[in-house]
Amino acid sequence: MNYVQHALIGLTTAGVGFYLGAQVGPDPPGGTTMVVAAGLVVLGSVSPDIDHPQAWISRRLPHKILGKLLPPLLLVVGLAVGLSMAGGHSVESGLRRLWTEIPLVRWALAGIGFALGLMITARLVSKTVKHRGPLHSIVFSLGVTIAAVALAMWAGRDWRFWWWGACFGHGFLIHVLSDGLTRFGVPLWWPFSNKRVRLFGLPLY
Ligand SMILES: [Zn+2]
Repeated sequence: MNYVQHALIGLTTAGVGFYLGAQVGPDPPGGTTMVVAAGLVVLGSVSPDIDHPQAWISRRLPHKILGKLLPPLLLVVGLAVGLSMAGGHSVESGLRRLWTEIPLVRWALAGIGFALGLMITARLVSKTVKHRGPLHSIVFSLGVTIAAVALAMWAGRDWRFWWWGACFGHGFLIHVLSDGLTRFGVPLWWPFSNKRVRLFGLPLY
């Protein structure tokens, strides 16, 4: 399965979950919050394949982010340095003004950090475990979900952000289960068993 299929399966199942949840519980939040939630579902849905160095999340996505963000950032930094030197100011003060006065610069740096983080993580993970290995298991998915929930509550400084982490965890778990539908199967019960499980034994790849 490719990343588009995984993202679509993650979004569809999350959408059904939200719909059913809204029938019995409170209405789901609207607007921007749902867009962020959908983004987290997609990110979770493509994350387990970080154990493959050539996967979309390990290679194409970080390259795309770097290609889009690095050139404009270098241009802006070059301009800031040039203007401060021309104006007789120190380079450091020019860079500091850039950092404090233009939030886009901070966002761009965060994006570049994220892309580099993905590349480094993919390299380390793919050297440590094999593709469709431990990352494609129930135990790992649950561990990732707990960590994502804790991170969301910490980052949002409010426990009510727990469900953002749950959105990521949902995507991750659904990816593992859908890979389990393929011929190759997944070690679903790792670390208790390394046996590859094929759910329903569907003839998918
Ligand atoms: Zn996978």
